[in-house]
Amino acid sequence: MIYLDHAAATPISSRVFDAMKPYFSEDFFNPSAAYLPAKKVASDYEAAKRVIAHAIGAKYSDLVMTAGATEANNLAFNATDGKVLYLITEHDSVRKVAEQHGGAPINVDKNGRILLDDLKSKMTDEIMLISVALVNNELGTIQPLSEIAAYIREVRLDRLSRGIKQPLYLHSDASQALNLLNVNVARLGVDLLTLNAAKIYGPKAVGALYVSRDVKLSPLSVGGGQEMGLRSGTENVPGVIGFAKAVEETCKHLNGNRKKYAKFKQIILSELKDYELINKKHSLDSFVVLCYNGIDAERLVFLLEDKGVYVSTGAACAASKGEKSHVLAAIGLSDSEIAGSLRLTFGETNSEEQIHEAAKFINEAVETERSRHA
Ligand code: PLP
Repeated sequence: MIYLDHAAATPISSRVFDAMKPYFSEDFFNPSAAYLPAKKVASDYEAAKRVIAHAIGAKYSDLVMTAGATEANNLAFNATDGKVLYLITEHDSVRKVAEQHGGAPINVDKNGRILLDDLKSKMTDEIMLISVALVNNELGTIQPLSEIAAYIREVRLDRLSRGIKQPLYLHSDASQALNLLNVNVARLGVDLLTLNAAKIYGPKAVGALYVSRDVKLSPLSVGGGQEMGLRSGTENVPGVIGFAKAVEETCKHLNGNRKKYAKFKQIILSELKDYELINKKHSLDSFVVLCYNGIDAERLVFLLEDKGVYVSTGAACAASKGEKSHVLAAIGLSDSEIAGSLRLTFGETNSEEQIHEAAKFINEAVETERSRHA
């Protein structure tokens, strides 16, 4: 198998799995219970949260653990009863909740980067939340968050000078960022930040929302009052322990992986034939988005699957519903270019040899399709 869809899912590493195991069996206690073994579990849980928080320059008490990034993104919007703006290319877990809040989309350029002038033209005194993902999940585009944060600070000062009390928060979905970027909440200037264990070789359905102390959130769920009352429900101790281990491993391999994926990208782009590269600039090297105009990329996905090569046409959730990618449409691709687009995302399961092999199989699949059309 050659797996080139790491943006959709990553396998749990053996270290992560080993760290989690005891908390399913001998250390199964409810962290809220009063006896000693439960207190040990509570303290291990807290230590795990500290590791995750520390990795993004935050404190343990700034994190609300959630059942994945979708929940964290939804919770972030509980910070607002005002108007919202969101980047047009956001993942559906942001886009759909932003739409429920009557949010207006901010446009992007052909590389998928935010158009700051569009953001500025849409800013009004009623806007309370802006949501811009640090890394896009279809293109790998990295957004200039600190520039956006600097503009937001200007807007806040201007509001203050005019006696307007409406707060303005910046939320970022960093689901796809943590495995290749140094993520630091202060440097990015964000007030809310979504994390996702499932994209960094941790368990699925485990995530977190960083919440700066200035933000007032209403709870996602009510009940036992866990996670500072913001997300009630018995803690997912094994999941959070696994998340912390995955964060530690990720931070250790950050630089090595960056170099590795840059090499993979260079190899595949030099060996592939007759394609157009979609994500040319400002993108993580682990993302390669190709366009074979005139070809149905879904057929390529199936042909490649027969050879044991797993790739995708875009976000896994959109692909499964047969929907056209709103991300590729937003960067100005025509319907036929969108239909011919293929997303490859590298990860820790890949070797250089696999990348050569994958290039060969992709070239063959494209040739098969082109000759069928001829
Ligand atoms: N945000 C981004 C950028 C993603 O890539 C994903 C998953 O693909 C999510 C949010 C949702 O994550 P989950 O399905 O784990 O809740």
